[in-house]
Amino acid sequence: MTLPPHPDSLSAQRLLAWALETYGRRFALCTSFQAEGTVILDIAHRISPDVRVFTIDTGRLPAETYQLIDAVRARYGIAVEIVAPDYREVEKMTTQHGVNLFYRDPSYRKLCCHVRKVRPLERKLAELDAWAVGLRREQSQERAGTEKLAVVDGRVKLSPLADWTKQQVEDYVTAHELPRHPLVNQGYPSIGCAPCTRAVLPGEEERAGRWWWETGDAKECGLHVTPDGQMQRTLDVLLEDILVG
Ligand code: SF4
Repeated sequence: MTLPPHPDSLSAQRLLAWALETYGRRFALCTSFQAEGTVILDIAHRISPDVRVFTIDTGRLPAETYQLIDAVRARYGIAVEIVAPDYREVEKMTTQHGVNLFYRDPSYRKLCCHVRKVRPLERKLAELDAWAVGLRREQSQERAGTEKLAVVDGRVKLSPLADWTKQQVEDYVTAHELPRHPLVNQGYPSIGCAPCTRAVLPGEEERAGRWWWETGDAKECGLHVTPDGQMQRTLDVLLEDILVG
């Protein structure tokens, strides 16, 4: 694997151009269609119009996210690749623990995120050598150490906007008239699944509306931060009964 020297000094454009040239169709963008995702898509699409884009459809997304996926498909003329969870795992999980298990406690919430998000992502990554996401360091404490280029399980993970500010993202969206998630104007700076996201209150952090009922735990779903310690062991026990294959 040949990596660019000093990747953290490269601009988002340079980093994405390198990945597109190096990996071609073995590279894809992973986005949930928040502002950062549309920015990396727009940058990459200007470099290579046939860039691959995928999103994880957990089955619990708000209707507005599906509207935005359609708007993105129409604007760029691309087929957004939809990655769904294994229906057998979802059936087993919801039959055993209820459809809204995530409100019970953090281990059940992480079980749901694992089945609906992490497992589908792992399946998708099996067909890729590199992928890019829209993480920014200033989004949360957990993301403060995000590297622009990391090697995860033998694959290259790019975070081209790692050093961007929220204002830079906003300026790019405005300057290029990118489609915006309809919920942003209703007070949702960060948007995930419908039952796990609320609008933020004045003065709250950007991700305060995600899993708002949880306290003292990282507000992450496991896509970017691996749960550890006791939480991982609890999750492993719950997963034993759920996973297929
Ligand atoms: S965000 Fe909520 S509904 Fe979505 S996968 Fe995680 S726990 Fe499940």
